[in-house]
Amino acid sequence: MSLPNLVGMLPSEMEDLAVELGASRYRGRQLATWIYRKGVVELEAMTDLPKDFRSALAERVVVALPEVERETPSQDGSRKLVFRLEDGARVSSVVMPDDGRVTLCLSTQVGCGYACAFCLTGTMGLVRNLTAAEILGQVLRANAVEHATHLVFMGMGEPLANYAEVVKTLKILTDAKLGLGYSPRRITVSTVGLVTGIEKLGRENLKVNLAISLHAASDEVRSRLMPVNRAWSLEALMAAVRRYPLAPRQRVFFEYVLLDGVNDAPEDAQRLARLLRTVRAKVNLIPFNDWPASEFRRPPLARILAFQSILLDAGITTTVRWSKGEDIGAACGQLKEAVA
Ligand code: SAH
Repeated sequence: MSLPNLVGMLPSEMEDLAVELGASRYRGRQLATWIYRKGVVELEAMTDLPKDFRSALAERVVVALPEVERETPSQDGSRKLVFRLEDGARVSSVVMPDDGRVTLCLSTQVGCGYACAFCLTGTMGLVRNLTAAEILGQVLRANAVEHATHLVFMGMGEPLANYAEVVKTLKILTDAKLGLGYSPRRITVSTVGLVTGIEKLGRENLKVNLAISLHAASDEVRSRLMPVNRAWSLEALMAAVRRYPLAPRQRVFFEYVLLDGVNDAPEDAQRLARLLRTVRAKVNLIPFNDWPASEFRRPPLARILAFQSILLDAGITTTVRWSKGEDIGAACGQLKEAVA
């Protein structure tokens, strides 16, 4: 039996553990401070903890982060970190410095079970969920090199299909006293559109940003691109999105991958504008990133810009997101690592 990991435990669980080991709750808070606020994971380095408490801990728990197996820098300033997990599985994170912010893109599963037609990760199928320790470990490892100011759950996997571990991670990330202290407004959770997950996440009242991978404004096209649309139609999805609690100036993000001749016509843009009329939306257009054996292509620049102007004319904030790290296989939809 392997020992439980302190990384990934809620601060309150660390307090309970301290009491179980005959110490005060305060010792648990010190532990959380060392790991989450200072990023220190060696028990020997936690010098303000009594020696006997540290040895008692060492018999009961480990403090373990996933190993960075490889770090690949891109021409554009982004970096891909490939982690090797305990069972040999690999996942990646992408660090994207831009304009004073540093955005870290996190994985939540090994592979993904949703099989979107244009996504390389989708060709892997779902291998397994990541634990909160493995998701937080990506943040702690990356922050040790360069502090991420913004976190996006847009790497490998479907965050809302790994609900419990993702929510636990979000609680630790946003705990201002004993966690990492991220403002929820600097965290974005992206989903293929799992309606029950969106509703549950709204009820957690975590106040994180919600991003919807939309990619089509009609059920016919969306079901062809995203099998999940057969379970949750656009109507059900948009109803759930409208119920997601938003702060006064907060908006829901919609990602829309532009695929040549598939969803990039002016009529598609008009349909999208109509669909989003009743939500506080911001659209991110993502020109398709190519991968070997994919059946899709990126539309010509003029068509991308024409699509954007239709949305802008309809009064919808719309940006074109030129993915980072395309040259190192780190761009949206390009993440895939050998499993073992
Ligand atoms: N499963 C979640 C989190 C992944 S986010 C979700 O789908 O929202 C990754 C984003 O990149 C998604 O919007 C996805 O649809 C998009 N994407 C996937 N493959 C892509 C590709 N080849 N080119 C551009 N974007 C892609």
